[in-house]
Amino acid sequence: MELTPQDLWSQVLDTIRSGMPDQSFRTWLVSARAVGMTEDQLLVEAPTQFHAEWVEDKYGQILAEVLESITGRRMTVSFEHSGVGDSPPPMPDLAVEPEAGAPAPSSAPRTREPAHERTGSALNERYTFEKFVVGSNNQLSSAAARAVAENPARMYNPLFLYGGVGLGKTHLMHAIGHGILHRDPGHRVAYVTSEYFVNELVNAIQTGSTQSFRRRFRKIDLLLVDDVQFMVGKMSTQEEFFHTFNSLYDDGKQIVLTSDRSPKDLQNLEARLVSRFEWGLVADINPPDYETRVAILRKKAEDDNLTLDDEVIDFIARSCRSSVRELEGATLKLLAYSSLRREEITVDLARQALRGILRQGSEPGGPPRLTPESIGRHVAADWNVEMSALASRRRTKNLTVPRQVAMFLIRELLEHSLVDIGRAFGGRDHSTVIHSVRKVEGEMEEDPEFAARVMRLRSELEAR
Ligand code: ADP
Ligand code: MG
Repeated sequence: MELTPQDLWSQVLDTIRSGMPDQSFRTWLVSARAVGMTEDQLLVEAPTQFHAEWVEDKYGQILAEVLESITGRRMTVSFEHSGVGDSPPPMPDLAVEPEAGAPAPSSAPRTREPAHERTGSALNERYTFEKFVVGSNNQLSSAAARAVAENPARMYNPLFLYGGVGLGKTHLMHAIGHGILHRDPGHRVAYVTSEYFVNELVNAIQTGSTQSFRRRFRKIDLLLVDDVQFMVGKMSTQEEFFHTFNSLYDDGKQIVLTSDRSPKDLQNLEARLVSRFEWGLVADINPPDYETRVAILRKKAEDDNLTLDDEVIDFIARSCRSSVRELEGATLKLLAYSSLRREEITVDLARQALRGILRQGSEPGGPPRLTPESIGRHVAADWNVEMSALASRRRTKNLTVPRQVAMFLIRELLEHSLVDIGRAFGGRDHSTVIHSVRKVEGEMEEDPEFAARVMRLRSELEAR
């Protein structure tokens, strides 16, 4: 009997499922379906163009490997866009059936509120997509943000962006607001920090005006809530927000949230909120790698009409690694220093100006703070094994886990290529390194204790 494309695709999914985080699996693969097959290709449809490109880029290679292992011949997956994402997805369990005879909500006439009745604060003019540099650290978040701006409440609702300070969460969130307002100036967009939400709620309770508080928040078309981690531990705020969330969501309104942690790691946040935050797409933003730092500095220099030559850009990019805000701070400091002293910006001047913020040993030319070996040794010690065993080809379980963690941390902390990392660990090839990194990521999502251990090692290494 011939294998149908659907059979083949479900076998592929079964195989790949255990090796990847559940969240990613559900978001990216479950919604794609097989529609055809040729000698060397499986044709799969994804709901949007962005979705198709993303899956092809991120999972194309691994899908091809799995296909080959199932069929015994070289096959690739070819993705196309079906356009079904252009209609709203079915709502999960909260959707309320309209009562018989009641008009469907969308057919009700829309009355716009006057523009001055604003909830929350204004969007920052500078925080647009045009000014946002896309790098490997923020690729998923920025692609998802663009998809939401183009198709609000259709694909990723809510969109939950998380990552450390100064990495661009607020910027992307405002960019979504600008993008939507640009196409539809009548869209009611509210940008609020979660502190604002808390304060407004407290005021409303004190002045007995919770009804009008509710009405205000529930007639918004796009709700942007920044830094939701501040709701942690505030029970009545969470309760109120839960209802606001449900009401907007049920009305097909887009919600975007940011936090310094993933929903799972928001301890003391009610489980029902955590689960709602995970309904749509959860995307992280990481610290920028060297190339992205250079691209950001170039872009800022261009936008602000500054002349920074390549050497100076390289120097700043190597010195400031932790966040974009740090990069911006360093640039401002350097400008101030140069104008006060009336000296041209050179690497020497930059070294003097940034002396305070340069970490010891992180200066280019100085001894490197971290190397693949020093990271490997640190991880090995934590697992009580020898670095030489990690670098060997032995594959016992007590070695594979720390080896994968070491590769993962090298990838996170250094700018070494996959090939170089593989070489440092017994001449493994780059696909083994990719596999290891994915494995650790998957495991971290599944097992909080393991995640905590890896994060601890990471901060110990960073503090060196
Ligand atoms: P977060 O909300 O994650 O703490 P912000 O969005 O406030 O960070 O970003 C800090 C600063 O860095 C802002 O000035 C922002 O414009 C800038 N920034 C962050 N990421 C990027 C990027 N990818 N491209 C350009 N500027 C960025
Ligand atoms: Mg922010």
